[in-house]
Amino acid sequence: MRVLIVEDEEDLAEAVCHGLTAEGFVTEVADNGVDGLWMAQENTFDVIVLDLMLPGMSGYDVCRRLRAHGSTVPVLVLTAKDGEYDEADALDLGADDYLSKPFSFVVLLARLRALLRRAPVERAPVLTAGDLRLDPAARQCWRGDSEVILTAREFALAEFLVRRRGQVVSRTQIAEHVWGGDLDVDSNVVEVYVGYLRKKLDQPFGLRGIETVRGVGYRLVDVTLGDAHAT
Ligand code: CA
Repeated sequence: MRVLIVEDEEDLAEAVCHGLTAEGFVTEVADNGVDGLWMAQENTFDVIVLDLMLPGMSGYDVCRRLRAHGSTVPVLVLTAKDGEYDEADALDLGADDYLSKPFSFVVLLARLRALLRRAPVERAPVLTAGDLRLDPAARQCWRGDSEVILTAREFALAEFLVRRRGQVVSRTQIAEHVWGGDLDVDSNVVEVYVGYLRKKLDQPFGLRGIETVRGVGYRLVDVTLGDAHAT
């Protein structure tokens, strides 16, 4: 079972991480909200332990954004009595359970196991746009029957575009979601990666699935191999 721990208190994160590892969990730690959201979206976790008061982006926003993007991963939030948010907020925003700090590790472990029992391990559904298919759980991508090998970043970009297929997305939105907002404003990295994707997903098949919307951004449209034969 893979657990993502999003917690900025180093000692606490380390203790939870060690404890869970000893119990046979595979753990990863993010020490701020931005990285936490990024890791949660980029990887498949079975459960997430999410502190609410985090630098970068609050746990509140991390959870809300995860749910907004369709993630159903169980989330257990850690709340502090003096925090800005309380338990009711935590459940409102889509968390599945909460623990107030300070908590005992034994209780945390029991709650996590309960969450894992409750939620069948769901595979993220295969995403499609025309005959482009992405399997986020297996990290596989196909155009028609041909598998296309993508790097992790290319896959993240493709997934972002497919999840918003038919919509125009700006370079800023792409930078935020795919690079976690780490890019310079002047960077042309988004353009470069869109180019990589076109070379892999469209051009070899004579298709134009990723449209440039001048002055705005990009739009991924449904195209299929049949479209190429028709033109
Ligand atoms: Ca904190």
